[in-house]
Amino acid sequence: MKKLLLICLLANLFMWADAQFIAVNYLQKDSFTNHLEALKDNYGMNKIIPPVLETECLTALQFYPELKTVNIEFRFGKASTTMSSRPTLSSLLKNRNKRLYIVTINQDGASKLGLKWNELSFNQTVGWIGHELGHILHYTQKTNGGILWMGYKYSFARYKRKMERFTDQLAIGHNLGFALYDGTEYTLNCSNAKKSYKNNAKIFYLKPNEILQKSYTRDSVVANYRKTKFSRKSNVMACLK
Ligand SMILES: [Zn+2]
Repeated sequence: MKKLLLICLLANLFMWADAQFIAVNYLQKDSFTNHLEALKDNYGMNKIIPPVLETECLTALQFYPELKTVNIEFRFGKASTTMSSRPTLSSLLKNRNKRLYIVTINQDGASKLGLKWNELSFNQTVGWIGHELGHILHYTQKTNGGILWMGYKYSFARYKRKMERFTDQLAIGHNLGFALYDGTEYTLNCSNAKKSYKNNAKIFYLKPNEILQKSYTRDSVVANYRKTKFSRKSNVMACLK
């Protein structure tokens, strides 16, 4: 029994330390709005963004320098979940550098299941967009045929889970773990989202405690886009020797 109590105490201390880490990195809208023009200059190239979400999208893009010149349109529409992203079909007939990716943001009331974008805080919204940018980064690593194959596999729950959790980890790897944690915690424990939506979130995405753990070990892993998984850096180095 004593041993069990000690384990619980150590686990709580670990979580407490993580919570401090999260609090320190909480994103405040004002600090980004004050530099909006600089953000536009640096990260607004080839992007179409609704004015109401300009600061949120540009802030998230700042964490993904690899997407600086990629064509991305953020638009409100009917999404099956809070946000979704994919290349346009016509893009898949073009060279991968000329693709256009669309991030669809659930308009107020557009989906009965998803959260409304405007009920999320700035920090949570940036985390959410960061997840979508992870999908886009993954697409940029794939051939046109590879994207179609991904789309087919996504209809199977096992691959969907693998891909969504990998995408969450991409956002963590881009230093958006704290924002992702905030949004996930809100969705599961504070929002009025439908039970089925929350259950899906638990099945297919990283849970809050997993986000915290992976935030701490993010520097020791590297993304393998081909295999849709993260590997420990030491293993990758060993394979290269
Ligand atoms: Zn996703």
